[in-house]
Amino acid sequence: MGKITLEKVTKSFGDVNVIPPLDLTIEDGEFCVFVGPSGCGKSTLLRLIAGLEDISSGAIKIDGNDASNTPPAKRGLAMVFQSYALYPHMSVRKNIAFPMKMAGVPQEEQDKRIAAAAKALNLTDYLDRRPGQLSGGQRQRVAIGRAIVREPAAFLFDEPLSNLDAALRVGMRMEIGELHAKLQTTMIYVTHDQVEAMTMADKIVVLRAGNIEQVGSPLELYRAPRNLFVAGFIGSPK
Ligand code: ADP
Ligand code: MG
Repeated sequence: MGKITLEKVTKSFGDVNVIPPLDLTIEDGEFCVFVGPSGCGKSTLLRLIAGLEDISSGAIKIDGNDASNTPPAKRGLAMVFQSYALYPHMSVRKNIAFPMKMAGVPQEEQDKRIAAAAKALNLTDYLDRRPGQLSGGQRQRVAIGRAIVREPAAFLFDEPLSNLDAALRVGMRMEIGELHAKLQTTMIYVTHDQVEAMTMADKIVVLRAGNIEQVGSPLELYRAPRNLFVAGFIGSPK
């Protein structure tokens, strides 16, 4: 299960309020995209959900349970970092196994999950290589594999494709979409790229300066943008 609810969540850094009171529900299994210009608070919001930052007030609930004070490792969510967060000296297999090792998953179960993740991500033939011997797309898949084996209630992606070239980005977008279709697990995906938002999302959350400007399906936002900001951001995909 992976329903995530934000209730009047705020975040300030010192005197600076970055997230004003914000309410949002992400349904179990939904592919939810946070979109908005640089500095609008997308990463902060994702980090609050992940527990990597503490909320200043309000509550974050996961499947109805208050997780506001739950440490990141216990929230059952998996953050997918950009591919450069891989351990360069470890094989692909060891990189993927790492979170399971930390969690004390038995070896046999580890091997089973690694095999399944590798199959889903077309990495079976690359398990004994090191990240440096892989393409950018393959490295990004390893980073996703490391999240999959934790069997999270939700995946959290922060601009995972921003350091890939344009052609590769299109392919990876499709692969992440396919993975979502296969796993049916909640995904929260942060991007400043309108095309990514419009093509990947079940639900788009448009952010401006920490405020939600509009929430809706790509079609709803395209047909009925609530204001000029949303129209400008969504209505003219490049
Ligand atoms: P985005 O991911 O949409 O580009 P961020 O969430 O990174 O935006 O940042 C939102 C705002 O919060 C920015 O003004 C940024 O400078 C500020 N901010 C983010 N993290 C911190 C921090 N640790 N300390 C102070 N200000 C921060
Ligand atoms: Mg960011």
